Amino acid sequence: LFVSFEGVDGVGKTTQVERLRAYLEAQGRTVVVTREPGGTALGKAVRQLLLHGVNEGAADIAPRAEALLFAADRAQHVAETIRPALERGEVVITDRYLDSSLAYQAGGRELTSEEIRSLSMWATNNLLPDRTYLLDMDPTLSHNRLEHAEDRMESAGDDFQSRTRQAFLDLAAVEPNRFRVIDASQSIEQVWAAIEADIKELA
Ligand code: C5P
Ligand code: MG
Repeated sequence: LFVSFEGVDGVGKTTQVERLRAYLEAQGRTVVVTREPGGTALGKAVRQLLLHGVNEGAADIAPRAEALLFAADRAQHVAETIRPALERGEVVITDRYLDSSLAYQAGGRELTSEEIRSLSMWATNNLLPDRTYLLDMDPTLSHNRLEHAEDRMESAGDDFQSRTRQAFLDLAAVEPNRFRVIDASQSIEQVWAAIEADIKELA
């Protein structure tokens, strides 16, 4: 079973990932929790580049280079972590996966979703989650929840975040069988209740 969590920054993905992990482990399942970008050693190096840039004075990362860096992170993540765990019969829960690239690199920036989708499908050798939980809420509200300092990505502004939110919703509409859209402005307990009700059918 392969589950991904998606949504703009600050919607509570990490909290719900941990709730789902605890729930499935209590059922006796072996669960691998992971994230993008940065789920592997290579991915952590790539994440550092993506979030904090190369160094002072270096040129900005070009959109195609950025898309390839996210794709490189994902390719390594699938090869090193996700596929081996699934082959062992374990559950994999990832905090972000290819829909984040579709929403951020295509939805918010200048590349087309066709380009990003084919890049991602190549990088993962066509591995899609069985279920994707889209935690949806107004990004101006979710942004207030973030406690940590802003990185290069998070400083992109409300407009960008709103476009990204809409891009996620559009993706969910196209693949209703894979996605469940959950109102993340509800309490943690209410969000979890929606996920629990759904995962019971799957796990
Ligand atoms: O979720 P996390 O905090 O790990 O994401 C790191 C940053 O990278 C976030 O600001 C997110 O908006 C951005 N991101 C992105 N494209 C992706 C994945 C994450 O722009 N494919
Ligand atoms: Mg973040």
